[in-house]
Amino acid sequence: MTARILDGVRIGKEIRGEVAAAVARMAGKGRKPGLAVVIVGDDPASRVYVRSKGRACLEAGMHSETVEYPATVTQDELLAQIDRLNADPAIHGMLVQLPLPKHIDTDAVLRRIDPAKDVDGFHPVNVGKLVIGDPTAFRPATPYGVQQMLIREGIETKGAHAVIIGRSTIVGKPMAGLLLHDAPGGNATVTVCHSRSRDLPSIARTADILVVAIGKPEFVTADMVRPGAVVIDVGINRVNDASHPKGYRLVGDVAYAPVAEVASAITPVPGGVGPMTIAMLLRNTLQAAEQAGR
Ligand code: NAD
Repeated sequence: MTARILDGVRIGKEIRGEVAAAVARMAGKGRKPGLAVVIVGDDPASRVYVRSKGRACLEAGMHSETVEYPATVTQDELLAQIDRLNADPAIHGMLVQLPLPKHIDTDAVLRRIDPAKDVDGFHPVNVGKLVIGDPTAFRPATPYGVQQMLIREGIETKGAHAVIIGRSTIVGKPMAGLLLHDAPGGNATVTVCHSRSRDLPSIARTADILVVAIGKPEFVTADMVRPGAVVIDVGINRVNDASHPKGYRLVGDVAYAPVAEVASAITPVPGGVGPMTIAMLLRNTLQAAEQAGR
C-alpha cells in the first residue's frame, strides 16, 4: 500500500482563504481582527515562526503587531506589556512565543493573558473550557489543525481508535480532548502514550489513527503501524545532512518512506501539520474578534 498524502499546504490555504473572506466581511462593518505576538530573545526557529505568523495575518487582512524583547527582559516588563495588550482594543488575540528564557516564569506569563485574547489556548481557563467542550474555548492551533485535516479529508474519527504518542500541554493532551468530544472530528476512543508507556509499539499497532508528537526524529517505524492506519506526524526535527545547502534537513517523528508503505494516509514533514498550525492561529484570532463583538 502506498499512503495518500495529507497535504497541509493545500488545506491550510483553504482555511486561510475562508478566514480572509470572513475578515473582509468584518471590514465592511469597520472592524478588523488584530493579533499581537510577543517574542523574547533571538532563537532563530522562534523568529522564523513569528515572522510567518505576522505575514499570514497581514495576508488574511488582519492587523498584526510583533513586540520584541531581548533575552534579558525582566518578568515585570513582560507582564506590563501583556497588561497593555490586554487593554488594547485593536488587539483581539495575543500569544507569547515559547520557549521563554529560564529566568522567566512561563506559567505566570501565560496566566497573565486575558483568556478572551488567549488564541494559543494555553491559559487554564481555555484548557478547562476545551476539556468540558465549551465552544468558546480557544483550541491550541496544532491539534486543532490536525482535527481539521481529518475532517476535511473525510477521515472518520467516530468510533475509531486514536492513539496519540506524546502528552504535552501544547499538542498531546488537547489532541486527546478534541478527539474525545461528541462533535465532528471527535467521538474517537482515545489512548495517550508517553515516555513511560509500557510496550508502546504494540499499543501503536492498535491505532486506526496514530498521532505522533514527541520530538524524536523518525521514532515511529513501519512495524509500529497497523496496515491501513492514518498517520499524523506532528514532529519537526532538524537532522544534520551535509548534502543539504543548510547542513540539515527537517524530518518528522515518523520514518516517512517505510511508514507510507503501510499506512492508508500520512502527513509529510514539512508540508503536513506545520502549515495547518498557522491557519488555525488565524482562525482563532478571527474567533476572538467575533466573540469580542468589536
Ligand atoms: P514536548 O517535548 O513538550 O513533549 C514531548 C512528549 O513526548 C512528552 O509528553 C513525552 O512524554 C513524549 N515522549 C518523549 N519521548 C518519548 C518516547 N521515547 N516515547 C513516547 N513518548 C515520548 O513536545 P511538543 O511540544 O508536544 O512537540 C512535539 C514535536 O512536535 C516536536 O518535534 C515539535 O517540534 C513538534 N511541534 C510541531 C508543531 C507544528 O506546528 N507542526 C507544533 C508544536 C510542536
